Amino acid sequence: MTRTLDGITVWNGHEERGPVRLGWSGDRIDGMAPADDRFPGLAVIPGLIDTHVHLDTSALDGAGAGDAWPLVTPDAEKAVHVIAHALRFAAFGVTTMRDLAASPVQVAVGRAFDQGVLDGPRLLASGPVGMTAGHGDLFTPPRFRDRPPVADSPDECRRLVRQWAREGATGIKIYTSGGILSMGDQVGWRNQTRAEIAATVDEAHALRMLVAAHAHSEEGIDIALEEGVDSIEHATGIVPRQFDALVAAGIPIAPTLLINDLVAAGGGGIRPEASEKAREAVAGRDPAFLAAGRAGVRFVLGTDANGRFVRHGGQLDELRAMKTAFGWSDERTLVSATSDAADSLGLGDRLGRLDDGFAADFVVVRGRPWRDLAELTPENIVAVVSRGTVLAGQLPG
Ligand SMILES: [Zn+2]
Repeated sequence: MTRTLDGITVWNGHEERGPVRLGWSGDRIDGMAPADDRFPGLAVIPGLIDTHVHLDTSALDGAGAGDAWPLVTPDAEKAVHVIAHALRFAAFGVTTMRDLAASPVQVAVGRAFDQGVLDGPRLLASGPVGMTAGHGDLFTPPRFRDRPPVADSPDECRRLVRQWAREGATGIKIYTSGGILSMGDQVGWRNQTRAEIAATVDEAHALRMLVAAHAHSEEGIDIALEEGVDSIEHATGIVPRQFDALVAAGIPIAPTLLINDLVAAGGGGIRPEASEKAREAVAGRDPAFLAAGRAGVRFVLGTDANGRFVRHGGQLDELRAMKTAFGWSDERTLVSATSDAADSLGLGDRLGRLDDGFAADFVVVRGRPWRDLAELTPENIVAVVSRGTVLAGQLPG
């Protein structure tokens, strides 16, 4: 059955197309014919893509979700919270999200959405491959026995990548520096040997999975680049001598601006140790990011949003921050959350654009956010369509 939105202006992930008759059947756009403007104040843009989220936090507000929640909550219960977060993010226009520290829980929820068991956004799940005492390992206190897996040799790295592939994960996450919210490490710690990272990247690519590398330090960015990862996360320690190589390789970077600023500002139950680390990490970031943006380094929307630090809908604030941080136009900024974000995930032939044959993931908004990003606010979101189904709001007309 074909559904239509007749006479609405479309921004297709690259450019404005003017008023069209947008048709879709199921999860596929099958018509974009020019039409008379029937909804002058409204527009359609592709569903937003956040390349870096974390959904396995408590979806309860405030009380009821202490630090121990991730450690003591059974997986079956976590799945319900993952679903709740995914739907809340989707209500603010995010129709594709990639969880970059997935467990089998996110893999399972993503599969259930894909199978239509529940209406929901596209949830990609990348399984972590990191070392003992690495950034990923240090979210679990040292004496706690029920720990996520780690890999401490090239062979163990290969095995863990294969286990993620068997589980149904769609990608792999690695670490080439220490982190901020992990407990007891330093941002400058090396994470894993070159041989371990090379084995992980080789195995992941052999199994057609992209590798996202968490890297805060200058050294970590070098390692990620040299070992051929597919994206870099955070990159707070980027320096100008790295720009050319990053541009040449076309490696996308998720800048996670707001979370680093939030943690640096402290308060809200953030450990002082983490705030201190974040302050150090962002100390030289802003001028370096502005220069990188001007040099053409490829940044895509990636927020680290988990519904607690960066909240649902925080992607809209992050985009406005990205525009300023990289000296971009409004339209360039929106590209980083749609067509280019899809390309960066290897899904550019299906997602992030509104054209014949593309997925029916779109957002009806008030205003023209590609001309004025300030209009991209929660209040201006009229309807969110994912896989051809209205997930939030109501279609006009
Ligand atoms: Zn993250």
